[in-house]
Amino acid sequence: QRNAKVAIMGASGGIGQPLSLLMKQSPLVTELSLYDIVNTPGVAADLSHIETPAKVKAFNGPDQLKDSLKGAQVIIIPAGVPRKPGMTRDDLFNTNASIVRDLAAAAAEVAPKAFVAIISNPVNSTVPIASEVFQKAGVYDPNRIFGVTTLDIVRANTFIAEAKGLDPLKTQVPVIGGHSGITIIPLISQAKPQVSFPDDQLKALTERIQEAGTEVVKAKAGTGSATLSMAYAGARFGIALIKALNGEQNIVECSYVRSNVTEAKYFSTPILLGKNGVEKNLGLGKLSSFESKLLEAAIPELKKNIQKGEDFVNKK
Ligand code: ADP
Repeated sequence: QRNAKVAIMGASGGIGQPLSLLMKQSPLVTELSLYDIVNTPGVAADLSHIETPAKVKAFNGPDQLKDSLKGAQVIIIPAGVPRKPGMTRDDLFNTNASIVRDLAAAAAEVAPKAFVAIISNPVNSTVPIASEVFQKAGVYDPNRIFGVTTLDIVRANTFIAEAKGLDPLKTQVPVIGGHSGITIIPLISQAKPQVSFPDDQLKALTERIQEAGTEVVKAKAGTGSATLSMAYAGARFGIALIKALNGEQNIVECSYVRSNVTEAKYFSTPILLGKNGVEKNLGLGKLSSFESKLLEAAIPELKKNIQKGEDFVNKK
C-alpha cells in the first residue's frame, strides 16, 4: 500500500465538502489536506471520525495555504464562486481566475510535482491560467495539470444508458473538447456498448449533455449549481490519478490537458494516465460527420477561452 496525500482547495464549499467526503471514503487516500478560507476546522473534525485510514487535517485561511500543499501528490481545486441562474461559466471568470492563479502559484512553489486537477470554472480558461503560472515559476510540466471534465462523461453515460435501458456503470461515452456549452463534444458514435439514435434524438441528447449544468442551476433555483454530481466526478478523477500514481495499468480518463491533437492548445480527449501524469494522449478516434461539425464549432470558442486565460496571467 502506497501513500497518497491529497489536498482539496476550497474544501468547505458546495463541491468541496462532498468531494472531501468521497476522498475520505477511499481507502487509497492516506492523508487528506483540507484548505479553504473559511470553515475547514469543522469539516475536517467531522470527516476525521470516519473509519477510513486517511488522516484529515484542516488548513484555514491564506496563512496556512502553503502548509496545506506540502507533500501533496494530488491537488484538487474546486475553490471559487458558484454559478447563479442566468450566469454563464464565463461570468465567473474574474473571481475564479484570481483564485486559481493564487492557488496555482502556491502549488508551483510548494508542490511543483503534484498532479493538479482543476474543477473551478471556466475550466477552459482556468487550466491555461494554472499552466501559465507554473510556466512563470519555471516548473511547468504539461503532463501534470488536468482540467476535470469527468462530469460531462458521467452525464453522457447516464443519459445514454437511460435512453437505451443499459447499466450506466457499464456504459462508456467519451466526451472531448472543453467543459462549457458548445465546446463539450460527446462522442456517442464511440459509446461502449455501441448505440445508435435517429438524427433528431442524437441532436437532443448531445444538447442535453452540453447544457446539463443549466438543468441543475435552474432546478436549484438560485441556490447554486451542480455540486453533488460534480463532487462524484471530481472524486472519480482524483482516484484515477492516485491509481495511476500507484502504478496501476490501463487507467484512462478523459481530461482537458495541454494538447496538440487539434488547433486548440488545450483540449480534452481520453488520456492514458501513468506515474508521471499524462502517459499517452489517446486522441480523437474516428468521428462521425455530426461530431466533426461539433468539433469545428468548438475550436474557435475554445481558442478564445484559452487566450482569455493566458491573457489574464500575462496582463497587458
Ligand atoms: P461550489 O458550488 O462551486 O462549490 P461554493 O461557493 O459552495 O461553490 O464553494 C466554493 C468554496 O471556495 C467556498 O467554500 C469558498 O470559501 C472557497 N473559496 C473561495 N475563495 C477561495 C480561495 N481563495 N482559496 C480557497 N478557497 C476559496
